Amino acid sequence: MDEALLKQISTGLRKAALNQETKAYILSNPILFNTLKKAADRYIGGDTLTETIDKVKAQNKNGFKCSIEFMGESTRTEEHANEARIEFLEICKAIKSQGLNATVSLDLSHIGLSISEDLCFNNLDLICREAATGDIEIIISAEDTERTDAVLKTYIDISKIHQHVGITLQAYLFRTKDDFENVVKLNGRIRMVKGAFETPSGLSLSRGEELDNLYLGYVKKLLSKNHLCSIATHDQSIQQEVKKMIQIYNVKSNSYEFESLFGIQTQQLQDLKDEGHPAKIYFVYGKEWYLYLCNRLAEYPLNVFQALNDILRA
Ligand SMILES: Cc1cc2nc3c(=O)[nH]c(=O)nc-3n(C[C@H](O)[C@H](O)[C@H](O)COP(=O)(O)OP(=O)(O)OC[C@H]3O[C@@H](n4cnc5c(N)ncnc54)[C@H](O)[C@@H]3O)c2cc1C
Repeated sequence: MDEALLKQISTGLRKAALNQETKAYILSNPILFNTLKKAADRYIGGDTLTETIDKVKAQNKNGFKCSIEFMGESTRTEEHANEARIEFLEICKAIKSQGLNATVSLDLSHIGLSISEDLCFNNLDLICREAATGDIEIIISAEDTERTDAVLKTYIDISKIHQHVGITLQAYLFRTKDDFENVVKLNGRIRMVKGAFETPSGLSLSRGEELDNLYLGYVKKLLSKNHLCSIATHDQSIQQEVKKMIQIYNVKSNSYEFESLFGIQTQQLQDLKDEGHPAKIYFVYGKEWYLYLCNRLAEYPLNVFQALNDILRA
């Protein structure tokens, strides 16, 4: 298919993803909701934690570690932020009581960052306290560039009182060069991603060789220090390069993991696991799947055809 057309589709989907009016319209329209949900199902753990836990258990049995996120971002009221916190506490309790090999991931704007930094910090603190009772790792996601400062500040502050908290860094942002130096001083896991959000011009690199080299540069620094890290990309050529680094630096298997989103390039992760590398599947669940679906289609527009197929087949 024409590359320019794919790029147009991708840009359109990213804009649709961020448009709150479109999102509200789709989520409130039962026909559209149910139709698009058929496409989303391939990427989500389910509507509920219980459904997701069943999938996590199955993947644990297959030898994969898992990450669980209750989907949502940009929570606008304190009540909703606190409801999200309660759900994350339930995830921690389920992981502990059911002995799952799983960690928790979250967007800070889901637990109140867009409302107040204090509200977010208090909610995060409560989640980390519960997680600590089961030695469960919490990894904070990277959001859009307007929130990067607040997300990193919260991460640095929470790291002063809790262990087992990690952060996601987006290699495509120019500022990550400095942010990386600040967070690598802390012990928490650093999850390296390329970056999913549209940014204002001048703040980020587009996909391509330069970004891939930058990404590899960050991973090399982490692996050479045996710093806890997650190689969170579906890019097979990067995964292959990282494998070589792991050998060169004789990296301990408890300090790194390859991590993929559920439903994406599953065979690649399976192969990595079969070769003996720690491999992790990232599950999201809940009803706020609209932005997530748009991002998965936008980053690989050929998925649009699969989505149409899922919609028509179901
Ligand atoms: C565990 C995890 C956590 C993440 N957390 C965040 C976060 O907190 N903040 C954030 O901004 N981003 C996050 N992302 C998304 C990330 O930033 C990228 O947008 C996403 O992973 C696509 O980039 P990539 O490096 O996988 O591959 P790309 O460079 O986009 O593509 C390279 C190749 O990977 C494969 N591929 C990539 N995407 C898909 C897809 N959707 N379907 C099928 N194949 C695909 C294709 O073969 C493609 O040619 C996360 C990703 C992962 C895996």
